[in-house]
Amino acid sequence: MQYTSTRDTKKSFKSADVIKAGISSDGGLFLPEYIPKIDFDKLTEMINKNYIQRAIDILELFLTDFTVDEIEQVVSSAYNHEKFDDDRIAPLHKLNKNTHILELWHGPTYAFKDMALQILPHLLVKSAQKTGDMSKFAILVATSGDTGKAALEGFADVEGTYIIVFYPEQGVSHMQKLQMITQEGNNVAAIGVIGNFDDAQTGVKAIFNDREFNEKLNASSIKLSSANSINWGRLLPQIVYYISAYVDLVKSENIKMGDKVNVVVPTGNFGNILAAYYAREMGIPIGKLICASNANKVLTDFIRTGIYDRRRELKKTISPSMDILVSSNLERLLFELYDRDDHKIKQMMDLLMKKGVYEIDAYVLEKLQSTFYASYADDTETMKSIKAVYDEYHYVVDTHTAVGLKVLEDYRRETGDNTMTVVASTASPYKFPESVLSALNVPIEPGQDEFSLLDVLSDISGLAIPENLKKLKGTEIRHKMVCKKDEMKKMVEDILIYRN
Ligand SMILES: *Cc1c(COP(=O)(O)O)cnc(C)c1O
Repeated sequence: MQYTSTRDTKKSFKSADVIKAGISSDGGLFLPEYIPKIDFDKLTEMINKNYIQRAIDILELFLTDFTVDEIEQVVSSAYNHEKFDDDRIAPLHKLNKNTHILELWHGPTYAFKDMALQILPHLLVKSAQKTGDMSKFAILVATSGDTGKAALEGFADVEGTYIIVFYPEQGVSHMQKLQMITQEGNNVAAIGVIGNFDDAQTGVKAIFNDREFNEKLNASSIKLSSANSINWGRLLPQIVYYISAYVDLVKSENIKMGDKVNVVVPTGNFGNILAAYYAREMGIPIGKLICASNANKVLTDFIRTGIYDRRRELKKTISPSMDILVSSNLERLLFELYDRDDHKIKQMMDLLMKKGVYEIDAYVLEKLQSTFYASYADDTETMKSIKAVYDEYHYVVDTHTAVGLKVLEDYRRETGDNTMTVVASTASPYKFPESVLSALNVPIEPGQDEFSLLDVLSDISGLAIPENLKKLKGTEIRHKMVCKKDEMKKMVEDILIYRN
């Protein structure tokens, strides 16, 4: 299978090249030339397979230039019990008869980003080997909190790579920041940017698109690559857990093969929900894709009106990993909805960059709304959702998952559709103890040590405190760098060229 770019369909690449490059040189995103199908027989065979075997079955369809052996090596280095604290890797938790929570936070950093970022470094190194590429790969990441740590953890000490993470200095939770600035490894850097996530993401994109700078790096045998969800190697592993969840629902006899399920995804950069869309395109019986936003509800407005308008203030919320106004992966969905019209995509993306707004055609909006539903939860509603779920089910969810559950309620109220639903749970509640505890009306003293909150949360939830969070207490801070948004390139240059 070959890959192409959303902004130039005349281009054709192998998957190994796409994974190495991250983003196309025309500014577009890579995607497969067609979406392979998976039939019910194949899904039925998966019922008695474990997560690793299911992942191999699915990755094989997309990575046709890899051997099955290579795929197996890559997958089993990622999804094992040294890295994940649950052997099922992405288990379902049944909340009630038609709602299942897909727990995507059993990896080493307790957010769903691990599902992809534990595997991406192995995919990248394998892609370099296969193509005889001796360069070192410098991974640049802009993070709204969880990607940064997951990428640092995934790439730390991986031979032939550097990893540099930019996070909004004031825009991530205390726990998220602590996770990043204590990261060990001799190829890692975490840098605070004075600005918000969009500033960090724009800065990283500008570095990727700076031809002169890239040539300078290439002269030192360094290539830039991306671990953000614009990289196809990030999206692909995310398709696996939606398919695996469907198979698990059949296995547990909650549905019959062929029954429809709806999927709810707390959304920021549109990567996770796009993976669910691809699973649907492959033939998984998914009904509605329910897109849940926080108060930064650009996507809700877009899906409801067809107008994408980023011209608004980014709000800081208690679900910081969704504080985003430019959802990069939407470009891939638009490409599909416009029947792969690269000119149209280029025009709209240019408009977004220059004017901050674009509008899709009425027939495309109709297609969009036939598959997607969207709503949002502000912070007050998010807190209420955490409390309501705990009171009714004694199950503690994090702030992002709570946004998803509130939006599911909106959906069911508005449509009366009570189809079996899978809610993607994107982070462990332990990553956001302060917000979660205040939602549960637990009194918190101002300035109370966050680690004592973990103990309280453990008492309430009955869940053990994740080891890697417990360990953070008193760990040495290793990364103290902070820069302005126009200094990011210089930071990268210093680290990659002058320091090595
Ligand atoms: C990254 C993240 C999201 C948003 O996912 P996208 O793929 O960017 O839409 C939601 N919740 C959590 C906890 C995250 O880390």
